[in-house]
Amino acid sequence: MATPTPTIDRARSAERIERDIETLAGPEYTRSDEAIRRYAYTPEYRATLDYFVRELEAIGFEVSYDPVGTLVARNRPPGEQVFGVGSHCDSNRNGGKYDGTMGVVTALEVCRLNAELGLDLPLQIISFLEEEGSGFGQMLLGSRIVARRVTEEELREEFRAIDDGRSFWEHAEEAGYQPARWREAVHILDDLTGWIELHIEQARVLQDTGNRLGVVTAIAGYIHADVFLEGRADHAGATPMDFRLDVAPAAARVVLEVERLAREAGDGTVGTVGEIELRPGIINVVPGRARLSLDTRGVVEDGFHAVARGIESFVQEAAGERGLTASYQQRQTLPVTHMDERLVAALEEAAAATGEPFMLMPSGAAHDTMSVAQHVPTAMVFVPCRDGISHAPDEEADPADAALGAEVILAAIASLREG
Ligand SMILES: [Zn+2]
Repeated sequence: MATPTPTIDRARSAERIERDIETLAGPEYTRSDEAIRRYAYTPEYRATLDYFVRELEAIGFEVSYDPVGTLVARNRPPGEQVFGVGSHCDSNRNGGKYDGTMGVVTALEVCRLNAELGLDLPLQIISFLEEEGSGFGQMLLGSRIVARRVTEEELREEFRAIDDGRSFWEHAEEAGYQPARWREAVHILDDLTGWIELHIEQARVLQDTGNRLGVVTAIAGYIHADVFLEGRADHAGATPMDFRLDVAPAAARVVLEVERLAREAGDGTVGTVGEIELRPGIINVVPGRARLSLDTRGVVEDGFHAVARGIESFVQEAAGERGLTASYQQRQTLPVTHMDERLVAALEEAAAATGEPFMLMPSGAAHDTMSVAQHVPTAMVFVPCRDGISHAPDEEADPADAALGAEVILAAIASLREG
């Protein structure tokens, strides 16, 4: 049986969400005048956490941090089961007001409604550190630390601040945390019976289909890799066509092959060459070296793995035909994350009860929820963002949709508790 959705004043929720988001877009909370720019261990990030601490303490939540600074707050003592909600509140370096932050703000609204309506559901909010990688160039860093998807060597040495080149370890210690205890971070998930993250969609599907919410069924896995081509740099005027070891035409073939393989794989598999570097990169020199990035994703493992394997062999062929050499190096890979069926069903039912348009959909973008899902049944809710724009100052989303999301998440958690 569906739990009746508690009567919620949506307009008031939307107002509070808007107030939180607009406040956190103020000068105290961003390092840039033109965009939202905040990342771990900066005063602006600290101020953002402090804002959430104040708001959460005001509704009786106890706030703590994991050993590197992921914020955790709960309305039950440690050891008691709680349901998790949250996202991240850092931004990319040229970001907008909504990516991540709207998820934490909506989670806060879930906690507020829970208190106001007297539901008293056991809740825990998490704001993960460094989702966007703006501080140390590592995406999902805070949640990967929680999931132990990093090594101590990486934290001590390899992960370095973009701003000053010092290690993650050193920065974490300086900010008052205890990176030496990073393996204990996983314990912030110990008491969770489930986890739901709300996020802007970062694509235009919800907008273009007229849906106000998306209930995520799976988060795409991905492979990130680099392709290197090596030829010879020569004078662009003096070197006849038959005397060249030009990497650019081979690079062009690789780009087209990525597109072809992704289409061939189907099932929504995507493939992108987002970075192309030609060296020396001068108009009158035949390029002797090239690097191309590969980003391939999908919710079907075989699909994106086929693209990566296909490119790995294709580059040898494309290089060989022209007397070039090639190599393929994988940077990072993550498997597909399937959302928990019971949680998805609870969200679907709660969304249907609102009478507002919603849809089931996959997530193409990576989220902290991927790390949580290893340990806890998880789900995600998407809200539309204007024209699919994200990671940019003109990112825009409607607080009224987030308010609807808060209502649906709260109702789903309530029904799961009873079921
Ligand atoms: Zn995000």
